[in-house]
Amino acid sequence: MPSPPYFIDLEEAREISHQYLPKISEEIISLDEASNRILSEDLESLVDDPPFDNSAMDGFAVRYEDSSKAPVILKITQNIQAQGLTNLPTIMENEACSITTGAPMPKGSDAIIPIEKCQIENGQVTLLEPSKPNFIRKRGENITKGDVGLCAGARLTPSRISLCATMGYQNLKVIKPLTIAIISTGNELKAPGESLEFGEIYESNSFGLASLIKLSGHIPKRYESVMDSMDSLRSVLNDASQSCDVILTSGGVSMGEYDYVRKIMEDEGDIKFWRVKLRPGSPPLFGLWNNTPLFGLPGNPVSSHVVFLMLTKPWLMKATGADGPIPKIIHAKLMDSLKSTKDCLTLRRLEIKFTQQGVLAYQPRHQGSGNIESLASADALSLLKPNQSGEIGEEIEVMLL
Ligand code: AMP
Ligand code: MG
Repeated sequence: MPSPPYFIDLEEAREISHQYLPKISEEIISLDEASNRILSEDLESLVDDPPFDNSAMDGFAVRYEDSSKAPVILKITQNIQAQGLTNLPTIMENEACSITTGAPMPKGSDAIIPIEKCQIENGQVTLLEPSKPNFIRKRGENITKGDVGLCAGARLTPSRISLCATMGYQNLKVIKPLTIAIISTGNELKAPGESLEFGEIYESNSFGLASLIKLSGHIPKRYESVMDSMDSLRSVLNDASQSCDVILTSGGVSMGEYDYVRKIMEDEGDIKFWRVKLRPGSPPLFGLWNNTPLFGLPGNPVSSHVVFLMLTKPWLMKATGADGPIPKIIHAKLMDSLKSTKDCLTLRRLEIKFTQQGVLAYQPRHQGSGNIESLASADALSLLKPNQSGEIGEEIEVMLL
């Protein structure tokens, strides 16, 4: 059997993993549940926005012709508010209608004078200056009935949810979130809250990964951490492949004697690649366990987190067709030197300052891949290419966290 691709570029790792996407289904939800969900169909507006010509200001609706004689005195004939109306008032020559923002334009009016440009006395209004053309919001000027306001794949951000409501939708057809197993492995791991024996540490990766999964719009299923043994791993992987759409493991994918995730995937699973040119984060593997896609993430806390960001998150976006959240990549000037590597994309944890001299990047922390504090306190990761110098003063790409 040919051995799976080994120590490959991030791009190649993405290409391979994108060939094994999970089955996606849809569900209908209400607007109240729409935050961070992903639309599964194009949404055509059910109405014009706005549905009628209306005033953009509190003030007076008038005939432009009358306003152009300003200063001019007009008779106030009506008040019109933003509300449902059966009879739209009409104004005639030398008449004005007081109007609130969002109220429909009375018949015969074609101009709005803001309240600040008016003097009101004895049922009359003096217009102090002629109207300008831009205080009327025209029917359909934002979106016309039948226009596609949002496309399938749109991630429902707060403003997009408001747009759905504006277009008249009460319920939305969205992608059903994936259930993602998180299995951390290691004899040394104890749950926070338990007391530690010498040699043990608190299991932390599964909690951070669960949060990353939620932020991606999916549902984490966190397992108790598993001992380094083939039997315990097999049993939990079987359970996960039956109850989840995707499996994330952490730990046990390196070359060590107790790296049983790699061993069990080699012997009984189906590895599609192993090791990626990322630093930190070079050990991951990707494959199938009982046909369920599995990301074998590294055990080191920074590594498991960054591999999720660089590999699993784009895979989840591909699987669901989600258009975001896209990585926020900007340029920054190095204020400390960074160590690059000769073959890996190097992801140093950086503090970013936005200054008048530009965007400045500092590396204030020790960069061990076991140091989760270095990530928790960072604003960005460097995207330092192989052999890039990383000298002070260099402009590099960074990905905001
Ligand atoms: P491994 O890849 O299993 O050799 O783990 C690499 C390093 O990460 C070791 O120091 C482990 O103790 C640590 N580690 C593994 N899994 C976790 C976890 N879930 N939480 C915190 N640290 C971990
Ligand atoms: Mg381990």
